[in-house]
Amino acid sequence: MALGDAWQVTQMSYHEKEQQMEIRVTDTPALWRQETCPHCGRQTVRGYDHAPERRWRHLNVCQIQAEIVCALPRGECVECEKIYTVRAPREGRSRGLTQEFEAFVLTLMREMPVKRAGEILGETDQKLWRALFAHVAAAWTDLSWDNVTWVGADEMNRKKGHNYLTVFVDLQAKRVLLAVAGKDASVCERFAEELGKHNGHPRAITQIAIDMSPAYKKGVREHFGNATVVFDKFHVVSQVVQAVDEVRRLEVRADASAREQLTRTRWLWRKNPEAWTAQEETRWEQLQTKPLVTGLAYAMRLQLQQAYAAPTAAQARKRFADWCRWVRTEATGLTSG
Ligand SMILES: [Zn+2]
Repeated sequence: MALGDAWQVTQMSYHEKEQQMEIRVTDTPALWRQETCPHCGRQTVRGYDHAPERRWRHLNVCQIQAEIVCALPRGECVECEKIYTVRAPREGRSRGLTQEFEAFVLTLMREMPVKRAGEILGETDQKLWRALFAHVAAAWTDLSWDNVTWVGADEMNRKKGHNYLTVFVDLQAKRVLLAVAGKDASVCERFAEELGKHNGHPRAITQIAIDMSPAYKKGVREHFGNATVVFDKFHVVSQVVQAVDEVRRLEVRADASAREQLTRTRWLWRKNPEAWTAQEETRWEQLQTKPLVTGLAYAMRLQLQQAYAAPTAAQARKRFADWCRWVRTEATGLTSG
């Protein structure tokens, strides 16, 4: 630990009972030649007195927990006559930890749950969370979003029940930008504000991928005038998967022989053929020769997924248009027949 000439270690003592190493640090006269007054910015500070002792957890010494103990000096500015406490040397971003210890804590927390890291270090996990949050907040403030043009927004269920978050992501850099409580149109306003604070601009956003919720659509329309709304593949396909399930339920209710054929096939229709078990595959082979509307609906779903698998955007567009035509024709045939 490099302290510079403004500070010196005056004592190192080992406390057997607590299994702890105490490192006492105190200021030297050189401190006052380097200090600038935080109020007026002038180098006209002299020593006034000392604040009560405080402690900072530091890296272990020979596997023994070590703490820095220091009564921070208070300075008095000759010019503006204000008194202030000098900042502790090597203090981390959260209270009571040195920079070196925080760096070690962060490294550990990347590899394991915070609680486990706390057990290893002999610290409460609250203390470690505080250090983590302080570093995340500092790093997040510095982030630049000036390249962000494609954004994805999606809702997340925070806990059980209706406790929603909307998460905004940068789809090109594949990083999370912001998480906001709620899933109404106001979350878009919050995101637009944050973009401004991070060198981005709402008008720079050209594509926003969202689900089909009217609230998101409204928010995008109001705050991202240049953005094209994109319904992402996941949400589109999941709507179609649900539609197939609905067809199955209707068919089971409407037709006794279909009910028999369709018993316990719910999961078969929800999966892709690659995910079928051997049993489900046999089942499907038996079912595909039957004139089931559910089978037709399932074939439609697979066809739609093929549109996403197209090698070019033009081909995807064509496949999608063909698909819409097909589905419309079949639906008309079914409802009129
Ligand atoms: Zn001053």
